Amino acid sequence: METEHDIAALTGGAMASIWSWVQGKIPPGVEVFDAHAHIGADVDGRTMTADGMRDRMEAAGVKRSIVFPLNDPNARDDYSGPNDVVWNAYEEHPGFFVPFFRLNPHLDYDREFARCVERGFMGLKLHPVSQQFELDDPRVVRLFGMAAEIDLPVLIHAGFAMQRVVEPLLPTVEAHPELRLILGHSAMVEVLDAAYAFEGHPNVIFETSVVRAKDLYELFCSVDPSRISYGSDIPYGDLPSTLHATLAAAQAAGVPDEALPGILSGNIRRWFP
Ligand SMILES: [Zn+2]
Repeated sequence: METEHDIAALTGGAMASIWSWVQGKIPPGVEVFDAHAHIGADVDGRTMTADGMRDRMEAAGVKRSIVFPLNDPNARDDYSGPNDVVWNAYEEHPGFFVPFFRLNPHLDYDREFARCVERGFMGLKLHPVSQQFELDDPRVVRLFGMAAEIDLPVLIHAGFAMQRVVEPLLPTVEAHPELRLILGHSAMVEVLDAAYAFEGHPNVIFETSVVRAKDLYELFCSVDPSRISYGSDIPYGDLPSTLHATLAAAQAAGVPDEALPGILSGNIRRWFP
């Protein structure tokens, strides 16, 4: 059972000095936008409710979050149950959440894709590790094409346990330069390759949640800050420590403070007016 104390511990106690540094770094008036968070349940036992997510956002002063399902034990064939949980969160907490739906490309996804788009979901989340597919699998390439056709942003897990990101993804990005793509965890397994390969593709955004410190530093050294967006990966990360990691890496890499409003908010907010 979660208590108010659990939330307070994220910004108090041992975190108090880190949190005050973070607050000092966030420019006044910036409405922080979290580009990567989960609501629902995961096969690994993690859970996050809409209320818990909102409590964390309010405690940390985060204004909006992109939310989508976890690797849900109840996903069954089409993810419709977990997608409904996200939609309900969106409807019950107006203004807080930007709802993305999740699919399993191995299974017949056309119906759930159409249902979610019709309903008003604002993006699609794909996880190549959890659902065990490669980014150049023909069924995935087709899905990217469907998203590009209707201008639906896609967030892909491009972090922990990935083997290949840039090489299988580049043909899709070149075929659909208009496709708005968020690289979850900044393609951290090959961040320099990704920085180079996607440099000329402004619709590819690098999202900073749960990236190793060294890779986050390399990201800020090699990618234009207008292409980087803050994310938390709640419930795997938390807002105070992921904000700290992002802001500290940006500072260490010499990113000017004028770029921080974009990284914390504007770069991704412009996609979801
Ligand atoms: Zn995630």
